Parts: sequence; C-alpha cells; structure tokens
Amino acid sequence: MSATMPAAFFGHGNPMNALEINRYTSAWRAFGEAVPRPRAILVISAHWYINATAVTAMPRPRTIHDFYGFPPELFDVQYPAPGLPELATEVSDVAHPTWVGADVDSWGIDHGTWSVLVHAFPDASIPVVQLSINAEKPLDHHLELGSKLAPLRERGVLIVASGNVVHNLRGMNWNLVDDGYDWAQRFDEDAKQRMLTDPTEFATLDAHPDYRNAVPTPDHFIPALYLAGLAGNTRDDSPTVLVDGYAYGSLSMTAYTLGMPTVATDGAGGSPPAPADVPADGTNI
Ligand code: ZN
Repeated sequence: MSATMPAAFFGHGNPMNALEINRYTSAWRAFGEAVPRPRAILVISAHWYINATAVTAMPRPRTIHDFYGFPPELFDVQYPAPGLPELATEVSDVAHPTWVGADVDSWGIDHGTWSVLVHAFPDASIPVVQLSINAEKPLDHHLELGSKLAPLRERGVLIVASGNVVHNLRGMNWNLVDDGYDWAQRFDEDAKQRMLTDPTEFATLDAHPDYRNAVPTPDHFIPALYLAGLAGNTRDDSPTVLVDGYAYGSLSMTAYTLGMPTVATDGAGGSPPAPADVPADGTNI
C-alpha cells in the first residue's frame, strides 16, 4: 500500500525569492523536508501559459530564465533535475478526454517552478515534469483537470502548483515591501476561506467584487484551481495554509498544502528583497 502524496500551491512572488532566504522560502524548504520523497514532481506553473494542454516529456529539461532586468546571479541559477518522459503518458491517461500534448523540445523548467524548488528540493535529484496551463479554457476546466490528476498522488507523484492568488503587476508599489492593499487582502482572505472550506467553488471567485483588481489576467490565479480541484477530490483531507502574506501591495504570497500536517515554521528568517534589488517595471514575475 503506498501513501497518498501531499500536494501544494505556492505563491512564488518575485523571482528574487530564488536567491533570498525569507519566511516564504523557509516555509517552502520546510515543506520539502516534511514530504515523503516523491517519484516525480508535476508542476503547474503560471509561467507556462499557452494555447494548448501539454506536458514536458524530455529526459533533461532545461532551466528557463523567462524574465529580464534581474541581476546576473538570477540568470546563473540552474535547476538540473531530470525529466520523467513516462509521466507524460500517465498525465495524458488521467486527463482523458482532455488531450495532452507531449512537449519534447519546447519548454523545460521555468522560474515559477525553479524559484520554489531550489528551496523545497535543493538537490534537484527528483524528476520534474511541467503541465502547461491552457489559456483558452475557462476556470472550471482547470478545476476539473486538477481533480482528474488526483490518481497520480497514489503513484508517488507530488503535484505542485505555482502562481499567486493575487497578482497585479501594474498595481505594484515597491515601497509596500511586505504589505497588501485593502482589496488585495479582501480577495486573498475570501479566497482562503473558499480554499479551506469549499474548494470546489474556488472558480466562482471570478464573481468576487475585487476579482478584476486581484486577477487582471488569470495566469497566476489558475494554478490555485489545480490544488482546489485536488482538494475537492479527496474526502480525507482539507487544504491548510502553509504561509501567507503580501508583497508590494498587489501580490499575495499565500501557499497551501493538502494531505500533510501543518508545517511548523519559525516565521523569522530574512526580509524580502530591497526595492533596489528588483527592476522598477516588475516585468513577468
Ligand atoms: Zn510569476
């Protein structure tokens, strides 16, 4: 009998988190240390947002630096985890009748994935496979597809979603390093309530009065639907908050886990990067 793998959603925030040690990255690390060693990690990242449903199927996925204007140290980060081509077939099987393309030479491991995994699984020895977000599909589709991935948890696959529930780049204020606007906090708190108590209704947050501010584009919100879908497909567990907080006014850093006890973190650690460390335009984070 194999144990059911946990699953998680991480608010990844600024790519500089890959290089920082702060209370978010400390919580990600604690998560990685607490989970049983998975056979593979399947990641739904906000940064693979394309017009198709695809899964990476190359044996050696490359590390993608899909941003610009950041310090050279960030471009030097490599996450040389192997792929697991056979997992592409397993994902395709459970997703049926949704068609899932096998990507052998296009994508790899993007910063939505590696900025978290460098902390959670720093030795990069566990195979990593990414599942794209099909931008043409409605929110309900992603909730349902998340639910369909549930059998993979019984096969040693750790499902990780990476985005930000509140993600408004135009609204970012670099002076609000560790704070959130009122609308950001209202939306994130209501989303939290939904995730913890009624995850199958997570997609209906698009009717929330603050949705348009919090989710001006759905790419960073959608990964949370995958965890909500998984949560709706289990009677044994409910999601719990791993860590939460705000950055630059218009990002929420809330992370959730499913299927594991609450990870204890000391809540200390360093502080987020100083405004001078990041570009003023905040492009593509
Ligand atoms: Zn991002």
